[in-house]
Amino acid sequence: MKRCTKCGVEKDESEFYTCKRDGLLRRCKVCISEANKDWMSRNEKRVAENKQRWAEANKEKVILIKKAYVDRNKEKVEQRRRNWASVNSEKVRASRIRWKKENPEKVKASREKWNKANPEKVVRKVAYQNLKATLGFKPPEELVLLKQQQYLINKELKNAKHQQPSE
Ligand SMILES: [Zn+2]
Repeated sequence: MKRCTKCGVEKDESEFYTCKRDGLLRRCKVCISEANKDWMSRNEKRVAENKQRWAEANKEKVILIKKAYVDRNKEKVEQRRRNWASVNSEKVRASRIRWKKENPEKVKASREKWNKANPEKVVRKVAYQNLKATLGFKPPEELVLLKQQQYLINKELKNAKHQQPSE
């Protein structure tokens, strides 16, 4: 039997690790494994802290590392982003609304760009909205098409007038 110097419990010698130099260690197996666990968790914290500190001191490197990771794992990253977005659709919506509020010029510019690239859709949208305002309900598709044509005809007429040689 041997008494552990840490917990003070007298235990069978099989409960102690042997050491080539000193024979049995002075602390029992249980105490040593506790001490190891303790050291591990303290160390883990230290490692995490070091990592954090390094990241703060090397922000540009971190961005490069992240970017390299994204480049190497495009599909995985995109999949994860999509999963996150579907789980957090409310958050995504809220952040989109907030972004729009904070960037009115960008919103305006992108709308103008879209309008320029999609003139037919713009005409359709205007026709739809005008009809809806007039009717007070969702206008039927045929009516929207007619209205659209009306706009286009008006535009053509205007152009024709401009091109008419003056007398
Ligand atoms: Zn012990």
